[in-house]
Amino acid sequence: MGNPSALAVVTGASRGIGRSLCERLAATRPVVALARSIEALADIAGPHPVVAISCDVSDPHSVSAAWARIRAEVGEPDLLVNNAGICDDGGPVWEQDPDTWWRVFEVNLRGAFLVSRAALPGMLEQGRGRIVNVASNAAFYRVWDGLDGFDYSAYMSSKAALVRLTEVMAGETAGRGIAVLAVSPGTVKTDMTATADAFRAMWDDDDVWVSAEPIADLVEVIADGELDVLTGRYIHAVTDDWRDLVARQAEIAERDTHTLRIR
Ligand code: NAP
Repeated sequence: MGNPSALAVVTGASRGIGRSLCERLAATRPVVALARSIEALADIAGPHPVVAISCDVSDPHSVSAAWARIRAEVGEPDLLVNNAGICDDGGPVWEQDPDTWWRVFEVNLRGAFLVSRAALPGMLEQGRGRIVNVASNAAFYRVWDGLDGFDYSAYMSSKAALVRLTEVMAGETAGRGIAVLAVSPGTVKTDMTATADAFRAMWDDDDVWVSAEPIADLVEVIADGELDVLTGRYIHAVTDDWRDLVARQAEIAERDTHTLRIR
């Protein structure tokens, strides 16, 4: 599937999940790969062109400059994947450094806001576009049962806010050819998980980890427009049967619009 004339933009493309998403999408369409480490983007390749542009998603000037280059050099994107993200060091709130804590929001939430803000005018003008916000099940953990070492308050709160931002943007763009979805990849071995204590503790437990294939499958399905009717919702690439959701999309679309996570 795919549309060879549709353009995708992926943030946080230099490594990990973002890189896998770029490689998958480049099999069917041109891709713009964004990250701060421009040299790490150089060897991403696919049958379709991959254009590497340096961008710090937390910096409005960097985002504006990157978007001006995309428009001038490549065209108007049909798909934006807000994947760039960082995790905090964990630990109770009262031990957190305020600037380090807030930096997580600057990348995970403000970054997705800034890049969506840059992308949406063009998408609205062409009456077509999809935005995928890479959230996390960390947005939904039942913390009152105990955290079991998973006390990344900035990360978890920023991802919960990103799911909410997804729903708000879906509402703002409803009926205008735009779909906005939040997704979760499952637990994938990347630099992020390798450097977070809670994940390192589970490193050798094969039951915990998945590859980036399920999230690449899900993003591809969204890119092809198959989940447009579910705009505003959160979908887990591994534990949610999105093929079943597609089959039941009319029923789900009629359900309570305040339901972010659908079953
Ligand atoms: P990763 O390997 O650490 O990669 C993070 C990416 O984000 C890198 O490409 C990095 O590129 C980019 N990035 C960080 N800060 C940035 C900034 N200010 N501006 C632009 N790009 C920035 O992490 P990952 O595990 O692949 O995570 C990717 C996404 O999936 C994140 O949003 C994460 O929260 C989410 N996620 C991951 C898991 C998991 O199990 N791995 C689970 C749930 C959700 P540069 O440093 O080159 O800028």
